[in-house]
Amino acid sequence: MTIEAAGIDGAAGLGAAVIADVEAHAAHNYHPLPVVLARGEGAWVWDADGRRYLDLLAGYSALNFGHRHPRLVAAAEAQLGRLTLTSRAFHNDLLGTFARELTALCGMEAMLPMNTGAEAVETALKMARKWGYERKGVPEGRARIVVMGGNFHGRTTTIVGFSDDASARDGFGPFTPGFVRVPFGDAAALADAIDDDTVAVLLEPIQGEGGVIIPPEGYLRAVRAICTERHVLMLADEIQSGLGRTGRTFACDHEDVVPDAYILGKALGGGILPVSAVVSRREVMDVFRPGEHGSTFGGNPLACAVGIEVVRMLRTGEFQARARELGEVLARGLASLPSARVAGFRARGLWAGVDLVGRTGRDVCEGLMRRGVLAKDTHGSTIRLAPPIVIERADLEWAVEQLRAELG
Ligand SMILES: *Cc1c(COP(=O)(O)O)cnc(C)c1O
Repeated sequence: MTIEAAGIDGAAGLGAAVIADVEAHAAHNYHPLPVVLARGEGAWVWDADGRRYLDLLAGYSALNFGHRHPRLVAAAEAQLGRLTLTSRAFHNDLLGTFARELTALCGMEAMLPMNTGAEAVETALKMARKWGYERKGVPEGRARIVVMGGNFHGRTTTIVGFSDDASARDGFGPFTPGFVRVPFGDAAALADAIDDDTVAVLLEPIQGEGGVIIPPEGYLRAVRAICTERHVLMLADEIQSGLGRTGRTFACDHEDVVPDAYILGKALGGGILPVSAVVSRREVMDVFRPGEHGSTFGGNPLACAVGIEVVRMLRTGEFQARARELGEVLARGLASLPSARVAGFRARGLWAGVDLVGRTGRDVCEGLMRRGVLAKDTHGSTIRLAPPIVIERADLEWAVEQLRAELG
């Protein structure tokens, strides 16, 4: 659909031509807002016709540090002048530093670098299965992994196979067996679902695509206890929830829970390039031996250079503290919205899901776009807010006022 057909004035002039080309020549696997971005800095982006917008999506948390953070751009530019790709057939001079510093940030012992989030999830699933056969003694071919209702872990055939979202799954089968789904937030259901062949529990500590769904207090601790007692790996997909977003380094930190593996992505690439990783204890990671898993681009020197800088930025805790403080500003603002327009909201750090009354999330996001604020709907009548952590407090307050005005 062209923007003219959609009757939306968000993109005109240069932008309209771009959208026409995308409609004509690219796959229609997304339904973006009709805004064509050409430049970004911090929490702000500009469209092809020079209009300015506040970015409250932050690339689904890939842009936790904002657009073109100077430290990250400097790290990438310096590395572009040295070496960008080696493959893992050889060592590069940065992977050791990245591995040492990332595992230290995570309190873990070993990491495996990949590129996209889905690849890191796949890596964790393979790791857990092999761990089950080699360390737990599960009979070959029988490994089971428990996943959660409402999950989102990426788009590969295996991953969509254990999704309960029809639009993610339908038409893409047959699917990989070996997964069982239980309701998110229900520790008793999880305990019941585990049997002798269960090797892992895979969960998002807060479900992002699901609408920023925060489980009941104590749930993550209960999952940890069940996994320890039943000798099952706890795999925490912190691709969206991790690296400062919730006001702590990891969402698991809110319950002082340490999983057996963190699955990281999005912000690990500093908003510059895809960088993901699985980070775990050595005993678990060592099920992988040479030739058994890998990626042409995983751990490349450019990715390492950016990843190292991301880890160093998070090490001081300043971004986590900022997400906590601004998160309180955001939550106060959302709490002050009229209850006739907002059914409720969930917030943790600088991350919120807002349930609307009587309007679709898409409709409100289109209205916000016209007011200079970019956000994304999820699940019909919910909008998700995840501003870059570098956002200025006054800009965040302005964005909430735009939402108030849009809701009327
Ligand atoms: C985005 C996301 C993924 C997939 O990451 P890609 O880089 O898009 O493959 C997996 N898990 C969670 C929780 C995510 O938010």
